[in-house]
Amino acid sequence: MRILVTNDDGIFAPGIKALAAAFRQLGDVLVVAPDAERSASGHALTLQHPLRMTEIAPAEWSVTGTPTDCVLLAVHAILKGEKPDLVVSGVNAGPNMGDDVTYSGTVSAAFEGTLLGIPSIAVSLATFDPEPFEPAAQVALELARRLIDTPLPPKTLLNVNVPAIPFEAMRGIRLTRLGHRVFTDIIAPRVDPRGRPYYWVAGTAQWAPEERTDIAAIRDGFISVTPLNMDMTDYRLLVEMETWGLDVPAGALAPTHPQPHRSEGRT
Ligand code: MN
Repeated sequence: MRILVTNDDGIFAPGIKALAAAFRQLGDVLVVAPDAERSASGHALTLQHPLRMTEIAPAEWSVTGTPTDCVLLAVHAILKGEKPDLVVSGVNAGPNMGDDVTYSGTVSAAFEGTLLGIPSIAVSLATFDPEPFEPAAQVALELARRLIDTPLPPKTLLNVNVPAIPFEAMRGIRLTRLGHRVFTDIIAPRVDPRGRPYYWVAGTAQWAPEERTDIAAIRDGFISVTPLNMDMTDYRLLVEMETWGLDVPAGALAPTHPQPHRSEGRT
């Protein structure tokens, strides 16, 4: 079995080392990860400049790009189109739960795996404190072993968050949905030494206390496993919208009011 291991914390992060070590029990591990931290890079691709890869150790490649770039380079450049059997992304330092998953490079790398038709898992340790990553890596390995018998449907991945407590203290796995959070003080304004303003994206997260969510599972000491689907269509709303009279022929969209004057010569 061939396993591609990646992350968004960078190839030197302790979380990816623990993950690669765990999955060497399952098969041949190829590590392809960003050369530096790319947390919160989402599903970004690098299109405006070239990418370089360096093999820093046997079967360990550092890439000057995003987590998504790493998955694409691994499959199409290093493996020459031969797909690995599994993509595992992480172990991220910090949770990837609820609304955060769309920002997450860790989760997006796993999504890239699913787009290539490869079963994929994202795994995160739900703390920013320096805790060991081995228990979370072991959890990901056990889940992967179960997926061999029960493969995931296309375009789906497992988003796994592991509580930062000793393995023996974990209460088990809870199957969850994404939770929601409310941010306060999102932008922290500062003033530089020249008197000009600058800003940090910061913010304090408050998680909504909803049951059966990833957030509730972590709070209660469970491992959270959420199946995610790349298809973001809201099918329930789509059905409801069919009664809104929006699907009209193009002629019905013709302007009924005078158009504002467009100024000439401006770009
Ligand atoms: Mn990260």
